[in-house]
Amino acid sequence: MVGLMSAPQFKHIYGPVYSWRIGRSLGIDPLSGNIKFCNYDCNYCQLGSAEQLSGRQVFVPVESILAEIRALPADCQIDYYTFSGSGEPTLAANLGEMIRAVKALKPGGQNKVAVITNSSSIIKPEVQADLRLADLILFKIDAPNQEIFEQVNRPVEGLKLADIVGSIKLFRKSFTGRLALQIMFTDDNREYAAELAAIARDIAPDEVQLNTPLRPSPVRPLAADDMAQIKRVFVAAGLRVLSVYEEEKKAYEPFNNIATEKRHGKFKGN
Ligand code: SF4
Repeated sequence: MVGLMSAPQFKHIYGPVYSWRIGRSLGIDPLSGNIKFCNYDCNYCQLGSAEQLSGRQVFVPVESILAEIRALPADCQIDYYTFSGSGEPTLAANLGEMIRAVKALKPGGQNKVAVITNSSSIIKPEVQADLRLADLILFKIDAPNQEIFEQVNRPVEGLKLADIVGSIKLFRKSFTGRLALQIMFTDDNREYAAELAAIARDIAPDEVQLNTPLRPSPVRPLAADDMAQIKRVFVAAGLRVLSVYEEEKKAYEPFNNIATEKRHGKFKGN
């Protein structure tokens, strides 16, 4: 990645980082706010307090994202263009337009797109249509019931976990890309591994990614032994499982350290 450090200070893209879940990932932040825009306020979130939004809006014009991607060096190695960043990407009303545009930059489906979502907006048909354009979707489910959902994810009023899980299940049946469930385990939900594994089995994802907050977070991570025990529960349920302590971590040199740390926390080896 020689030469990248002298690249322009991008506002909307960051990384690339090496993600244990995705590989070489170029982050695209369709919100790009100075504060987090999200309809959750997870108690472990590394991004600080949220401007809580429930509706979608356009934050960044599609052309601004494309201009930054076009400015990258031609030899930049990227497995996935990953929509994530300073909040919940499905709150961007032009997410679908952005996914289409990024994929159109190279012919023949060479640009693969991932979306990391908190899952909340999957209840909306227009968000389902946008997500269907992605090659890989990482859906977050941290809670087995509404009580833990409200305690851990602290959603905006009116969001029901049962509706979200039901919508992912339906979406799963017709989505032809790769679908992963991401679960953040902390002391708040560690005792619900069996219930969460049952929810995961019902959804039938391609894989389950078990995480605990190893990046700076207000909540302490679970130890490797605890995560190994939780993994056994998911494996026993017949699921393909990746777990944060066990996956290969590789350092990768982002072209913009400040923009990357803002969205991604400590990036090397994450
Ligand atoms: S969904 Fe993601 S961005 Fe939103 S509060 Fe939770 S961890 Fe933070």
